[in-house]
This record gives sequence, C-alpha cells and structure tokens, in this order.
Amino acid sequence: MKRTLSLTTQIIVMVTLVFLVLLGSMSYMHYDAMKHYSQESETQKSELLLNSVAPVVAINLYLDMKGPMYDYLMKIIQQNPMILRLIVTDREGRKYFTYESPMAQAQTARPIFLKKSLYDKISGETIGEIEMLYSNARYEALLNEYRRFTWMLMAGAVVLLMLLLLQLRRRLAPLKKLATDLREYDPRRRNFPKKKVGGSDEIAVIHNAMVEMFEKIEQYTTRMFEMNLKLETKIRERTKILEETNEQLRREIEERTRTEEALKHANELLEQLSTKDALTGLYNRRMFEQSFENYWKMAQRERMPISILLCDIDFFKQINDRFGHLAGDKCLQELAAILKRAVKRPMDSVARYGGEEFIFVLPDTPLMGAVALANEIQKMIYDRNEKAETEIPFTLSIGVSCIVPTSHDSMQELVRQADMALYEAKRKGRNRIEVQSL
Ligand code: GH3
Ligand code: MG
Ligand code: MG
Repeated sequence: MKRTLSLTTQIIVMVTLVFLVLLGSMSYMHYDAMKHYSQESETQKSELLLNSVAPVVAINLYLDMKGPMYDYLMKIIQQNPMILRLIVTDREGRKYFTYESPMAQAQTARPIFLKKSLYDKISGETIGEIEMLYSNARYEALLNEYRRFTWMLMAGAVVLLMLLLLQLRRRLAPLKKLATDLREYDPRRRNFPKKKVGGSDEIAVIHNAMVEMFEKIEQYTTRMFEMNLKLETKIRERTKILEETNEQLRREIEERTRTEEALKHANELLEQLSTKDALTGLYNRRMFEQSFENYWKMAQRERMPISILLCDIDFFKQINDRFGHLAGDKCLQELAAILKRAVKRPMDSVARYGGEEFIFVLPDTPLMGAVALANEIQKMIYDRNEKAETEIPFTLSIGVSCIVPTSHDSMQELVRQADMALYEAKRKGRNRIEVQSL
C-alpha cells in the first residue's frame, strides 16, 4: 500500500512552510538595512584600525625610522587581509611607504577609502599623510550568500507549498465526492457506491468506515425486509385461521342460539305443563300447593284471614256416562272459564284440584268475602245454565273454610275443613254452599 503523509502531518508541514516563506521574505526585506549596517561597521572598524596605526606611523615618520615602520605596517597588513592599499606620504608628498594588495584590481565591491593626516605630537604640525583602502567584499559576499540562500529557501518553500496545496486539493477531492454521495444517498435505491479506497490517511479511513457502515445498514435492511415479509405471511396465515375460527364460532353461536331458543321454548312449554293443567288451562294442584303455602305463611305473619273454596261438579259421572267423556271435558273447560272470570283480586287464584274438583285460595279474605265469591260463582253457573240451552247443564257444590292462622294451625286442616263443608253440601242435596269455619 502506498504510504502517504497523514493529513495532520501535511497540514503541519504546510503551516511550517508558510512560516518559512514569511520569515524569508521578512529577512529579505531587511537585506538593505543589513548591508548598510555592515558597511557602517566595516568603516568604523577600518577607522579604528587607522586611528590606532596612525600615532605609531607618525612617530616612525618623525624619527625617520623607515625599517621599523615597514615591519610594523607589514605586520598590520598581514593581520588585516582586508587592507587593499596602504600609502604613507611625507610632508612633501613623497611616498614613504606603499602597499598594494594583488586583490585590489579584482575588487568588485566598493572599498572604503580613508585618509588621515599625521601630526607631530609636540609641535602639532602636519608631517605627512596616511591613506588606506579597506575592502568590505568579504561581508558583502557573506550577505549576498545569505540573500541567495534566503531566496532559494523561499523559492523551495513556495514550490513545496504549491505542490502540497495541489496534493491537498487532490486528497480532499474524495471527501467532496463522499459528501455528495452521502447527500444523494437514498435507502430505497441503495445508491451509495460501496467501493473502498486505498491509502491510510484520515479521508481514506473515514471513507472506508462509511462504506462499512453502509454495508452493515444494507445488510440489516435486507434482513428486516425479509423478516417483515415472513411476518406478513405469518400474519396473513394467522388472520386466515382466525377468520375460519371466527366463522366456525359464529356458526356454533348461531346453532347454540337456535338450540337455546328451542330449549327456551321447550322450557316454557315444560313450565306451562308443570304449572298448568292441560285441559282447562288453570293452575294445577302442584302450583296451588305452592302458592297456598306462600299465602299461608304471609297470613300467619300478617295475622290475616285466609279462605278456601272447594268446588265439585254434581253428578258428573252421570254426565260422562250420558254424554260421553268429550262432552264432560267440555263442561270442565266451560266451568274453568267461569271460575277464571270469578277471580278478580290480584292475589286470588283458582286451580284444578282433582278430576272435577276446583279449589280457590283467597288470601286476606274473611269468611263473608269467601261466601260472597261462592255465591257469585253459583250465580254465574246458574246464568250459564239458563242461557245455553243446548249446553249440558251442571251444578256445583262448594265447601268454604276460613281461618286467621297462628303458628299452631296447619294448612292441610284448612283444606280438610273445606272438604268437610263440601261433603256436607253434597249430603244436604248438592248445588249449594256450606261453610266450615275454624
Ligand atoms: P257427586 O255429585 O257426588 O260429586 O257425584 P259425581 O258423579 O260427580 O262424583 P264421582 O266421584 O262419583 O264421579 C266423578 C267423576 O268425574 C268420575 C270421572 O269419570 C269424572 N271425571 C274425573 N275427571 C274427569 C275428566 O278429566 N274428564 C271427564 N270427562 N270426566 C272426569
Ligand atoms: Mg268429585
Ligand atoms: Mg262430583
């Protein structure tokens, strides 16, 4: 794999280069000043040299000691190779000492020229002159070298900076593309180009991490899609099963409802059969006993009178024998209708007690009230016999009993009393009412 600078390192290098260019340009701007200062310092140095040499030369000139002066000046020249020319002239202008460096002609830089009069220390008069040509070429060369170096450094830095900038642009290009790809990414189209890039720099790392992330997202999306599909199929299957079960349940409920209705009907019928007498439609003996017990207890509690009427058709056997059983039945039905009409108070009730016997239970009814009802019944039968001439006439014997029951009395006794009264009525000739009060 190609090793490249990390982005951070590249940026640090670039910043350093910019700094270098700035530094170079600053030092380049200071070049003239430096040149000026070096010239100045060289001048001062040469002046200082000349000032230190001049008194020794003056003494030698004054004493006319040519030899020692020559030695002294040559020594100075050896120590200061920058001296290009050194000339000592006497009062008359004759050259007393002359030195000319071989480099003097080849000199390109402008040398420093110094001239100084030599004085007699005692009299103070001028005894000669010393002139010196001092080269600053070495410093100028150094400065020029420095300038060239700065130039090269700056140029190099600028070129490198440009190259790095170009590379940075090239390296950042994938980042822009990545951003565009991300912006245009549509999960339904899955249009993210899943291609990893080479390199190990930050952008490559980010790019490859993104690619991995998208791969994972798409894997999970595919899995989720498959799971959804499975789930939908399962839901559809379950819904179908549920619908079928529902339908079955509905059918079962319908059937059950029908059965329940039939059962209700049967129960009603049964109830009717168990409480009513089939022939006359009146309550049967079982129902009488039930309601009689209730009323009996109520009468005991409330200390109310309770009465019983026991009715029996007279000579019914003969009617059957003469007219047949069906006619007898019809008589029974007619009588039942009359007795039903006779019941007016809500608590009063009549039931078929036996074959042609009927019984009334009259709660909260004293003996007088019961006898009144018995009379009314007799009258209704009389009327019936009068009116329906074609019908078979019959008469009724009625036994009446009444009691205000205490806890010691028994309800059977009340019925027995009524039965005894009825027996008495039969005995006394039938078609009449007899009372047996306790
Ligand atoms: P008495 O005046 O003493 O009451 O004479 P009776 O003939 O009415 O009395 P008895 O007890 O001798 O006869 C009762 C008759 O009632 C006998 C029976 O044939 C008839 N009977 C009982 N139940 C029915 C019925 O449901 N239908 C018909 N047709 N006759 C019935
Ligand atoms: Mg009878
Ligand atoms: Mg009878």
